[in-house]
Amino acid sequence: MKIHEYQGKEILRNHGVTTPRGVPCFSVDEAVKAAESLGGNVWVVKAQIHAGGRGKGGGVKVAKSLDQVREYADQILGMQLVTHQTGPEGQKVRRLLIEEGADIKKELYVGMVVDRVTQRVCLMASSEGGMDIEEVAAHTPEKIHKVFVDPAKGLTDAEADDVARKIGVPDASITQARTQLQGLYNAFWGTDASLAEINPLILTGDGKVIALDAKMNFDSNALYRHEDILAMRDLDEEDLAEIEASKHDLSYISLDGNIGCMVNGAGLAMATMDTIKLFGAEPANFLDVGGGATVEKVTEAFKLMLANSKVKAILVNIFGGIMRCDTIADGIIEAAKQTHLSVPLVVRMRGTNEEIGKRTLEQSGLPIITANDMAEAAQKVVAAVAGH
Ligand code: GDP
Ligand code: MN
Repeated sequence: MKIHEYQGKEILRNHGVTTPRGVPCFSVDEAVKAAESLGGNVWVVKAQIHAGGRGKGGGVKVAKSLDQVREYADQILGMQLVTHQTGPEGQKVRRLLIEEGADIKKELYVGMVVDRVTQRVCLMASSEGGMDIEEVAAHTPEKIHKVFVDPAKGLTDAEADDVARKIGVPDASITQARTQLQGLYNAFWGTDASLAEINPLILTGDGKVIALDAKMNFDSNALYRHEDILAMRDLDEEDLAEIEASKHDLSYISLDGNIGCMVNGAGLAMATMDTIKLFGAEPANFLDVGGGATVEKVTEAFKLMLANSKVKAILVNIFGGIMRCDTIADGIIEAAKQTHLSVPLVVRMRGTNEEIGKRTLEQSGLPIITANDMAEAAQKVVAAVAGH
Protein backbone atom coordinates (compact mmCIF):
# COMPACT_ATOMS: atom_id res chain seq x y z
CA MET A 1 0.00 0.00 0.00
CA LYS A 2 1.18 3.50 -0.83
CA ILE A 3 0.53 6.76 1.01
CA HIS A 4 0.99 10.46 0.25
CA GLU A 5 4.09 12.50 0.99
CA TYR A 6 2.40 14.48 3.78
CA GLN A 7 1.36 11.24 5.49
CA GLY A 8 4.87 9.81 5.12
CA LYS A 9 6.29 12.97 6.68
CA GLU A 10 3.90 12.65 9.62
CA ILE A 11 5.18 9.11 10.24
CA LEU A 12 8.78 10.25 9.89
CA ARG A 13 8.24 13.13 12.33
CA ASN A 14 6.80 10.66 14.84
CA HIS A 15 10.14 8.88 14.61
CA GLY A 16 12.23 11.98 15.18
CA VAL A 17 12.93 13.00 11.59
CA THR A 18 12.95 16.75 10.87
CA THR A 19 10.74 17.93 8.00
CA PRO A 20 9.59 21.39 6.95
CA ARG A 21 6.34 22.54 8.58
CA GLY A 22 3.44 21.92 6.25
CA VAL A 23 -0.33 21.61 5.92
CA PRO A 24 -2.27 19.24 3.63
CA CYS A 25 -5.03 21.07 1.69
CA PHE A 26 -7.99 20.14 -0.46
CA SER A 27 -8.88 23.54 -1.95
CA VAL A 28 -7.19 26.72 -3.20
CA ASP A 29 -8.59 28.79 -0.32
CA GLU A 30 -7.31 26.28 2.20
CA ALA A 31 -3.90 26.45 0.53
CA VAL A 32 -3.70 30.23 0.88
CA LYS A 33 -4.85 30.07 4.50
CA ALA A 34 -2.27 27.38 5.18
CA ALA A 35 0.51 29.55 3.75
CA GLU A 36 -0.69 32.50 5.88
CA SER A 37 -0.68 30.40 9.03
CA LEU A 38 2.78 28.99 8.26
CA GLY A 39 4.13 32.53 7.91
CA GLY A 40 7.43 33.47 6.26
CA ASN A 41 7.79 34.60 2.66
CA VAL A 42 8.56 31.45 0.65
CA TRP A 43 6.24 28.47 0.35
CA VAL A 44 6.24 25.31 -1.69
CA VAL A 45 3.03 24.12 -3.32
CA LYS A 46 3.23 20.35 -3.77
CA ALA A 47 0.86 18.01 -5.62
CA GLN A 48 0.03 14.96 -3.54
CA ILE A 49 -0.28 11.87 -5.72
CA HIS A 50 1.01 8.34 -5.23
CA ALA A 51 3.79 8.77 -7.78
CA GLY A 52 7.21 10.30 -7.82
CA GLY A 53 8.73 12.64 -10.38
CA ARG A 54 6.22 15.36 -9.51
CA GLY A 55 8.84 18.11 -9.66
CA LYS A 56 9.69 17.45 -13.30
CA GLY A 57 6.02 17.10 -14.21
CA GLY A 58 5.15 20.57 -12.85
CA GLY A 59 3.62 19.37 -9.60
CA VAL A 60 6.04 21.16 -7.23
CA LYS A 61 6.25 24.97 -7.33
CA VAL A 62 8.06 27.48 -5.12
CA ALA A 63 5.88 30.53 -4.36
CA LYS A 64 7.29 33.87 -3.21
CA SER A 65 4.00 35.55 -2.29
CA LEU A 66 0.52 34.57 -1.14
CA ASP A 67 -0.77 35.54 -4.59
CA GLN A 68 1.65 33.04 -6.09
CA VAL A 69 0.52 30.39 -3.63
CA ARG A 70 -3.02 30.98 -4.91
CA GLU A 71 -1.89 30.93 -8.52
CA TYR A 72 0.09 27.67 -8.19
CA ALA A 73 -2.51 25.95 -6.02
CA ASP A 74 -5.13 26.80 -8.63
CA GLN A 75 -2.86 25.50 -11.38
CA ILE A 76 -1.93 22.24 -9.66
CA LEU A 77 -5.15 21.26 -7.91
CA GLY A 78 -7.27 19.28 -10.35
CA MET A 79 -4.53 19.01 -12.97
CA GLN A 80 -3.80 15.70 -14.64
CA LEU A 81 -0.20 15.35 -13.48
CA VAL A 82 1.97 13.25 -15.78
CA THR A 83 5.25 11.91 -14.42
CA HIS A 84 7.52 9.03 -15.42
CA GLN A 85 5.69 6.96 -12.80
CA THR A 86 2.05 7.74 -13.69
CA GLY A 87 1.99 6.54 -17.28
CA PRO A 88 0.93 8.82 -20.15
CA GLU A 89 -2.62 9.32 -18.83
CA GLY A 90 -1.29 10.91 -15.62
CA GLN A 91 -2.99 11.15 -12.24
CA LYS A 92 -5.53 13.73 -11.13
CA VAL A 93 -4.33 15.95 -8.26
CA ARG A 94 -6.91 16.10 -5.46
CA ARG A 95 -4.70 17.12 -2.53
CA LEU A 96 -1.91 19.62 -1.99
CA LEU A 97 0.79 20.01 0.60
CA ILE A 98 1.70 23.60 1.44
CA GLU A 99 5.08 23.84 3.13
CA GLU A 100 7.42 26.53 4.35
CA GLY A 101 10.22 27.01 1.83
CA ALA A 102 13.65 25.60 2.58
CA ASP A 103 17.07 27.06 1.85
CA ILE A 104 18.65 24.20 -0.09
CA LYS A 105 22.46 24.03 -0.14
CA LYS A 106 22.78 20.39 -1.18
CA GLU A 107 20.32 17.63 -2.09
CA LEU A 108 21.16 14.13 -0.82
CA TYR A 109 19.38 10.80 -1.25
CA VAL A 110 18.55 8.21 1.42
CA GLY A 111 16.23 5.26 0.98
CA MET A 112 15.48 1.86 2.43
CA VAL A 113 14.14 -1.39 1.01
CA VAL A 114 14.17 -5.00 2.12
CA ASP A 115 17.05 -6.83 0.47
CA ARG A 116 15.88 -10.37 -0.17
CA VAL A 117 19.36 -11.83 -0.71
CA THR A 118 20.75 -10.78 2.68
CA GLN A 119 17.28 -10.74 4.28
CA ARG A 120 18.09 -7.38 5.80
CA VAL A 121 16.93 -3.82 5.48
CA CYS A 122 19.22 -2.12 3.01
CA LEU A 123 19.95 1.58 3.49
CA MET A 124 20.99 3.27 0.27
CA ALA A 125 22.49 6.73 0.37
CA SER A 126 23.98 9.10 -2.15
CA SER A 127 25.43 12.57 -2.35
CA GLU A 128 23.57 12.94 -5.66
CA GLY A 129 20.02 13.40 -4.40
CA GLY A 130 17.19 15.28 -6.09
CA MET A 131 15.26 14.60 -9.19
CA ASP A 132 17.74 12.43 -11.11
CA ILE A 133 18.50 9.60 -8.69
CA GLU A 134 17.42 6.98 -11.26
CA GLU A 135 20.12 8.32 -13.60
CA VAL A 136 22.71 8.08 -10.82
CA ALA A 137 21.75 4.46 -10.14
CA ALA A 138 21.94 3.61 -13.84
CA HIS A 139 25.16 5.40 -14.81
CA THR A 140 27.23 5.94 -11.64
CA PRO A 141 26.15 3.19 -9.24
CA GLU A 142 29.40 3.67 -7.27
CA LYS A 143 27.88 6.91 -5.98
CA ILE A 144 25.24 4.92 -4.10
CA HIS A 145 26.43 3.63 -0.72
CA LYS A 146 24.72 0.69 0.93
CA VAL A 147 24.41 -0.54 4.51
CA PHE A 148 22.76 -3.88 5.32
CA VAL A 149 21.29 -3.39 8.76
CA ASP A 150 21.55 -6.10 11.41
CA PRO A 151 17.97 -6.51 12.67
CA ALA A 152 19.17 -7.28 16.21
CA LYS A 153 21.10 -3.99 16.48
CA GLY A 154 19.17 -1.65 14.24
CA LEU A 155 21.07 1.11 12.41
CA THR A 156 24.02 1.82 14.72
CA ASP A 157 25.50 5.27 15.41
CA ALA A 158 28.74 4.18 13.72
CA GLU A 159 26.95 2.97 10.57
CA ALA A 160 24.82 6.10 10.37
CA ASP A 161 27.77 8.45 10.87
CA ASP A 162 29.90 6.57 8.37
CA VAL A 163 27.31 6.70 5.62
CA ALA A 164 26.52 10.35 6.39
CA ARG A 165 30.23 11.22 5.90
CA LYS A 166 30.35 9.23 2.65
CA ILE A 167 27.52 11.29 1.18
CA GLY A 168 29.17 14.54 2.14
CA VAL A 169 27.48 15.62 5.35
CA PRO A 170 29.91 18.03 7.07
CA ASP A 171 31.19 17.15 10.57
CA ALA A 172 29.05 19.79 12.26
CA SER A 173 25.86 18.21 10.89
CA ILE A 174 26.72 14.52 11.43
CA THR A 175 24.68 14.19 14.64
CA GLN A 176 21.61 15.59 12.91
CA ALA A 177 22.09 13.29 9.94
CA ARG A 178 22.36 10.35 12.35
CA THR A 179 19.01 11.27 13.91
CA GLN A 180 17.44 11.45 10.44
CA LEU A 181 18.88 8.11 9.30
CA GLN A 182 18.00 6.26 12.49
CA GLY A 183 14.55 7.87 12.46
CA LEU A 184 14.04 6.65 8.90
CA TYR A 185 15.14 3.16 9.88
CA ASN A 186 12.87 3.06 12.94
CA ALA A 187 9.94 4.33 10.87
CA PHE A 188 10.62 1.67 8.24
CA TRP A 189 10.95 -1.11 10.80
CA GLY A 190 8.08 -0.04 13.04
CA THR A 191 5.52 0.25 10.24
CA ASP A 192 6.43 -2.89 8.27
CA ALA A 193 7.34 -0.70 5.33
CA SER A 194 8.57 -2.19 2.09
CA LEU A 195 10.10 1.09 0.98
CA ALA A 196 10.95 4.36 2.73
CA GLU A 197 12.70 7.10 0.87
CA ILE A 198 13.75 10.68 1.52
CA ASN A 199 14.71 12.34 -1.74
CA PRO A 200 15.95 14.90 -1.30
CA LEU A 201 17.36 14.94 2.21
CA ILE A 202 18.79 18.44 2.23
CA LEU A 203 21.59 20.35 3.85
CA THR A 204 20.49 23.94 4.44
CA GLY A 205 22.61 27.07 4.34
CA ASP A 206 22.79 27.08 8.14
CA GLY A 207 23.86 23.42 8.42
CA LYS A 208 20.50 21.79 9.15
CA VAL A 209 19.57 18.35 7.78
CA ILE A 210 15.92 18.19 6.68
CA ALA A 211 13.70 15.65 4.90
CA LEU A 212 12.17 17.56 1.99
CA ASP A 213 10.28 14.65 0.47
CA ALA A 214 8.99 11.34 1.84
CA LYS A 215 7.84 8.22 0.12
CA MET A 216 6.66 5.15 2.00
CA ASN A 217 5.16 1.87 0.80
CA PHE A 218 3.91 -0.83 3.15
CA ASP A 219 3.69 -4.58 3.12
CA SER A 220 -0.03 -5.21 2.64
CA ASN A 221 0.24 -8.50 4.50
CA ALA A 222 1.21 -6.60 7.67
CA LEU A 223 -1.48 -3.93 7.53
CA TYR A 224 -3.73 -5.89 9.88
CA ARG A 225 -1.47 -4.71 12.69
CA HIS A 226 -1.29 -1.05 11.59
CA GLU A 227 -4.77 0.41 11.74
CA ASP A 228 -3.37 3.93 11.77
CA ILE A 229 -1.60 3.34 8.48
CA LEU A 230 -4.55 1.55 6.90
CA ALA A 231 -6.57 4.68 7.72
CA MET A 232 -4.21 6.63 5.44
CA ARG A 233 -5.27 4.61 2.39
CA ASP A 234 -6.48 6.84 -0.45
CA LEU A 235 -8.64 4.82 -2.83
CA ASP A 236 -8.66 7.71 -5.35
CA GLU A 237 -5.03 6.86 -6.04
CA GLU A 238 -5.53 3.16 -6.56
CA ASP A 239 -6.40 1.17 -9.64
CA LEU A 240 -10.18 0.53 -9.77
CA ALA A 241 -9.77 -3.05 -10.97
CA GLU A 242 -7.29 -3.77 -8.17
CA ILE A 243 -9.65 -2.34 -5.53
CA GLU A 244 -12.48 -4.48 -6.90
CA ALA A 245 -10.21 -7.56 -6.98
CA SER A 246 -9.14 -7.06 -3.36
CA LYS A 247 -12.82 -7.12 -2.31
CA HIS A 248 -13.05 -10.64 -3.73
CA ASP A 249 -9.70 -11.71 -2.32
CA LEU A 250 -8.18 -12.09 -5.78
CA SER A 251 -4.50 -11.31 -6.36
CA TYR A 252 -4.80 -8.98 -9.32
CA ILE A 253 -2.38 -6.46 -10.81
CA SER A 254 -3.33 -4.31 -13.81
CA LEU A 255 -0.81 -4.26 -16.67
CA ASP A 256 -0.65 -2.52 -20.03
CA GLY A 257 -1.20 -5.37 -22.51
CA ASN A 258 -4.33 -6.79 -24.16
CA ILE A 259 -4.42 -10.46 -23.11
CA GLY A 260 -6.37 -11.12 -19.94
CA CYS A 261 -4.88 -13.98 -17.90
CA MET A 262 -6.60 -16.11 -15.32
CA VAL A 263 -4.29 -18.56 -13.62
CA ASN A 264 -4.13 -20.42 -10.33
CA GLY A 265 -0.90 -20.02 -8.40
CA ALA A 266 1.40 -17.01 -8.47
CA GLY A 267 4.29 -18.95 -10.00
CA LEU A 268 2.18 -20.34 -12.82
CA ALA A 269 0.69 -16.87 -13.35
CA MET A 270 4.18 -15.40 -13.76
CA ALA A 271 5.22 -18.21 -16.10
CA THR A 272 2.05 -17.67 -18.15
CA MET A 273 2.81 -13.98 -18.55
CA ASP A 274 6.37 -14.83 -19.59
CA THR A 275 5.07 -17.30 -22.17
CA ILE A 276 2.69 -14.71 -23.65
CA LYS A 277 5.59 -12.26 -23.92
CA LEU A 278 7.77 -14.96 -25.47
CA PHE A 279 5.27 -15.25 -28.31
CA GLY A 280 5.26 -11.51 -28.82
CA ALA A 281 2.21 -10.20 -26.97
CA GLU A 282 1.59 -8.45 -23.64
CA PRO A 283 -0.56 -9.55 -20.70
CA ALA A 284 -3.31 -7.17 -19.54
CA ASN A 285 -3.04 -8.32 -15.96
CA PHE A 286 -1.57 -10.67 -13.42
CA LEU A 287 -4.33 -12.73 -11.82
CA ASP A 288 -3.96 -15.55 -9.36
CA VAL A 289 -7.38 -16.95 -8.44
CA GLY A 290 -5.74 -18.98 -5.69
CA GLY A 291 -5.98 -22.62 -4.75
CA GLY A 292 -9.42 -22.66 -3.17
CA ALA A 293 -11.31 -20.53 -5.70
CA THR A 294 -15.06 -20.98 -5.91
CA VAL A 295 -17.32 -20.59 -8.94
CA GLU A 296 -18.22 -17.11 -7.60
CA LYS A 297 -14.57 -16.08 -7.44
CA VAL A 298 -13.87 -17.31 -10.96
CA THR A 299 -16.93 -15.39 -12.14
CA GLU A 300 -15.70 -12.20 -10.44
CA ALA A 301 -12.28 -12.72 -12.00
CA PHE A 302 -13.85 -12.91 -15.47
CA LYS A 303 -15.90 -9.79 -14.85
CA LEU A 304 -12.75 -7.93 -13.86
CA MET A 305 -10.88 -8.93 -17.00
CA LEU A 306 -13.82 -8.16 -19.27
CA ALA A 307 -14.34 -4.75 -17.68
CA ASN A 308 -10.95 -3.76 -19.12
CA SER A 309 -11.63 -2.39 -22.59
CA LYS A 310 -8.04 -3.11 -23.61
CA VAL A 311 -8.59 -6.87 -23.27
CA LYS A 312 -8.84 -8.48 -26.72
CA ALA A 313 -8.58 -12.14 -25.66
CA ILE A 314 -8.44 -14.19 -22.48
CA LEU A 315 -6.15 -17.02 -21.56
CA VAL A 316 -7.16 -19.38 -18.77
CA ASN A 317 -4.30 -21.56 -17.58
CA ILE A 318 -5.16 -23.91 -14.74
CA PHE A 319 -3.24 -26.57 -12.98
CA GLY A 320 -5.77 -28.63 -11.08
CA GLY A 321 -4.27 -29.56 -7.76
CA ILE A 322 -6.37 -28.40 -4.86
CA MET A 323 -8.23 -26.30 -7.41
CA ARG A 324 -10.41 -28.60 -9.49
CA CYS A 325 -10.70 -28.11 -13.24
CA ASP A 326 -14.47 -28.64 -13.16
CA THR A 327 -14.87 -25.73 -10.72
CA ILE A 328 -13.02 -23.51 -13.18
CA ALA A 329 -15.19 -24.77 -16.05
CA ASP A 330 -18.37 -24.03 -14.05
CA GLY A 331 -16.99 -20.59 -13.24
CA ILE A 332 -16.25 -19.85 -16.89
CA ILE A 333 -19.77 -20.83 -17.93
CA GLU A 334 -21.34 -18.81 -15.14
CA ALA A 335 -19.18 -15.82 -16.06
CA ALA A 336 -20.12 -16.17 -19.74
CA LYS A 337 -23.78 -16.10 -18.70
CA GLN A 338 -23.41 -13.04 -16.48
CA THR A 339 -21.15 -11.05 -18.75
CA HIS A 340 -21.10 -10.58 -22.45
CA LEU A 341 -18.13 -12.75 -23.38
CA SER A 342 -17.20 -10.99 -26.58
CA VAL A 343 -13.51 -11.86 -26.89
CA PRO A 344 -11.80 -15.14 -27.84
CA LEU A 345 -11.16 -17.43 -24.90
CA VAL A 346 -8.29 -19.92 -24.81
CA VAL A 347 -8.38 -22.54 -22.07
CA ARG A 348 -5.64 -24.89 -21.00
CA MET A 349 -6.35 -27.06 -17.98
CA ARG A 350 -4.48 -30.04 -16.56
CA GLY A 351 -4.86 -32.07 -13.41
CA THR A 352 -7.67 -32.86 -11.00
CA ASN A 353 -11.02 -33.43 -12.75
CA GLU A 354 -9.53 -32.35 -16.08
CA GLU A 355 -11.86 -34.61 -18.06
CA ILE A 356 -15.00 -33.39 -16.33
CA GLY A 357 -13.92 -29.77 -16.80
CA LYS A 358 -13.19 -30.24 -20.49
CA ARG A 359 -16.48 -32.04 -21.09
CA THR A 360 -18.41 -29.27 -19.31
CA LEU A 361 -16.80 -26.64 -21.51
CA GLU A 362 -17.42 -28.65 -24.68
CA GLN A 363 -21.09 -29.18 -23.85
CA SER A 364 -21.57 -25.50 -23.00
CA GLY A 365 -21.48 -24.57 -26.66
CA LEU A 366 -19.26 -21.59 -25.87
CA PRO A 367 -16.71 -20.78 -28.59
CA ILE A 368 -13.73 -21.84 -26.53
CA ILE A 369 -10.31 -22.54 -28.02
CA THR A 370 -8.62 -25.36 -26.15
CA ALA A 371 -4.93 -26.11 -25.81
CA ASN A 372 -2.95 -28.91 -24.24
CA ASP A 373 0.20 -27.17 -23.12
CA MET A 374 1.29 -23.68 -22.21
CA ALA A 375 3.16 -22.92 -25.41
CA GLU A 376 0.21 -23.98 -27.54
CA ALA A 377 -2.16 -21.97 -25.36
CA ALA A 378 0.01 -18.85 -25.54
CA GLN A 379 0.46 -19.18 -29.31
CA LYS A 380 -3.28 -19.57 -29.81
CA VAL A 381 -4.17 -16.56 -27.67
CA VAL A 382 -1.50 -14.41 -29.33
CA ALA A 383 -2.88 -15.45 -32.73
CA ALA A 384 -6.39 -14.62 -31.51
CA VAL A 385 -5.48 -11.02 -30.60
CA ALA A 386 -3.63 -10.67 -33.88
CA GLY A 387 -6.95 -11.50 -35.55
CA HIS A 388 -6.02 -14.88 -37.00
P1 GDP B 1 9.33 14.60 -6.54
O1 GDP B 1 9.78 15.26 -7.80
O2 GDP B 1 7.98 13.93 -6.71
O3 GDP B 1 10.34 13.67 -5.99
O4 GDP B 1 9.06 15.76 -5.48
P2 GDP B 1 10.06 16.44 -4.41
O5 GDP B 1 9.31 16.64 -3.16
O6 GDP B 1 11.34 15.69 -4.28
O7 GDP B 1 10.35 17.85 -5.03
C1 GDP B 1 11.08 18.00 -6.22
C2 GDP B 1 12.12 19.08 -6.12
O8 GDP B 1 11.52 20.32 -5.76
C3 GDP B 1 13.17 18.83 -5.03
O9 GDP B 1 14.20 17.98 -5.48
C4 GDP B 1 13.66 20.24 -4.77
O10 GDP B 1 14.70 20.58 -5.68
C5 GDP B 1 12.46 21.12 -5.07
N1 GDP B 1 11.91 21.60 -3.78
C6 GDP B 1 11.09 20.93 -2.93
N2 GDP B 1 10.87 21.65 -1.83
C7 GDP B 1 11.58 22.83 -1.98
C8 GDP B 1 11.79 24.00 -1.16
O11 GDP B 1 11.31 24.12 -0.04
N3 GDP B 1 12.58 24.99 -1.69
C9 GDP B 1 13.14 24.89 -2.91
N4 GDP B 1 13.89 25.90 -3.38
N5 GDP B 1 12.98 23.82 -3.69
C10 GDP B 1 12.21 22.79 -3.24
MN1 MN C 1 11.54 13.56 -4.39
